[in-house]
Amino acid sequence: MSGEAKLQADGETAVGLCAACQHVRVVRSNRGSVFYQCLRSFNDGAYPAYPRLPVSLCKGFEHRPSKPGLKGDSGDCND
Ligand code: SF4
Repeated sequence: MSGEAKLQADGETAVGLCAACQHVRVVRSNRGSVFYQCLRSFNDGAYPAYPRLPVSLCKGFEHRPSKPGLKGDSGDCND
């Protein structure tokens, strides 16, 4: 999917598009905080590393494949 995508899923309004995007990495801290890191930011300065949520419009959005274990897996950090 290319082009701009708009938020449609009511259940994901707190996070927005990043919740379903294949270019996100969900980072959970030891304190239980959850951060959504945009992997596009590594190669494209137009994307913030940690987008302000909810993201309701994003040119880089691509729906995550239904297969688990691809991009978007959880990670840990030590903050
Ligand atoms: S490309 Fe857009 S929707 Fe996808 S993770 Fe980055 S900011 Fe979120």
